[in-house]
Amino acid sequence: MLILGIESSCDETGVALYDPEKGLLADALHSQIEMHRLYGGVVPELASRDHIRRVIPLINAVMDKAGKKPSDLSAVAVTEGPGLAGALLVGNSVAHGIGFALGVPVIGIHHLEGHLLSPLLSDNPPKFPFIALLVSGGHTQLMEVKGLGEYSVIGETLDDAVGEAFDKTAQALGKAYPGGPAVSAMADMGQSGVIDLPRPLLHSPDCNFSFSGLKTAVMNTIRKHSGPLTDEYKNDLARAFVDSVTEVLVAKSLRALKYYGYKSLVVAGGVSANKQLREALRSACGKRGVKVYFPPAALCTDNGAMIAAAAAAHLKEISEGASEKEDGFSIKPRWSLEESGRA
Ligand code: ATP
Ligand code: MG
Ligand code: FE
Repeated sequence: MLILGIESSCDETGVALYDPEKGLLADALHSQIEMHRLYGGVVPELASRDHIRRVIPLINAVMDKAGKKPSDLSAVAVTEGPGLAGALLVGNSVAHGIGFALGVPVIGIHHLEGHLLSPLLSDNPPKFPFIALLVSGGHTQLMEVKGLGEYSVIGETLDDAVGEAFDKTAQALGKAYPGGPAVSAMADMGQSGVIDLPRPLLHSPDCNFSFSGLKTAVMNTIRKHSGPLTDEYKNDLARAFVDSVTEVLVAKSLRALKYYGYKSLVVAGGVSANKQLREALRSACGKRGVKVYFPPAALCTDNGAMIAAAAAAHLKEISEGASEKEDGFSIKPRWSLEESGRA
């Protein structure tokens, strides 16, 4: 079986070829970050137009890389939502055009389900059920995942997403968007305990998060600092930020695992690439006999492979007798993961 995955929900065109038996055969990505940087944020109209320019050449590139031709495809997977309407329309139009021409099914995938199932692409894939920590640019959620399509949110951020807090901190430290990796690298050179930052909601008796105050605390710390903003100072501040975020994410994940009685944790989304978070979660889970799963480092942020892998999981269920959801050509710019259940 060969699945073409297409992701075009925001500012990245991601395309991949995935074979459930052999794994990921090829993937290609074009990020529009440079184009939008001029405007200080994603411009929807420009995003759509750039997806139009990129998507076909990227599909041809993965086909060439994997030595496959269109008639080898068994299904097309595409991000159906949530996201920018115009951007989603590009990916979905192409997916349905290919599906119609080849007579193969088109499977619409929820973007967050793609992130959530991206650890299936790793050498050590998780098995249902598990608790999931989804940490991305737009989301910070803990979920109880009982099976494919059975997702319940058990905690989430009350304000900013953790990826957003990384990006704002990076900006305050003079780094370009998206600054998550830069903050992580600075934190690596910084020292813990030199600067003190709050741990928002660390002791709240729930699984919720809040990162807006932490972001403000970083900015206030810089504003109140009397000396020069040396690299050493900035690294220590990045370290303090990463220590705070990591402590809170670890504590809330452990709380969710304990409260709901699970022994596996899946971590996904762009921030799951973060080295310090991975180390802290591995250590905390290791001590408690909890297995922890991550996506391959290169597939934490948006990509086509996670969309193809999520579709493969649904196709497997359908082949085992689950009913097929036929929803034709549609996009869902606003769509909650809990509502997306196909099972
Ligand atoms: P969503 O999936 O919620 O709609 P998104 O698609 O924009 O949002 P992702 O692509 O999953 O989000 O993740 C992007 C975020 O991940 C950015 O905020 C980026 O700074 C952050 N990020 C990427 N790598 C790292 C890292 N190594 N450490 C910390 N943050 C990181
Ligand atoms: Mg993105
Ligand atoms: Fe994403």
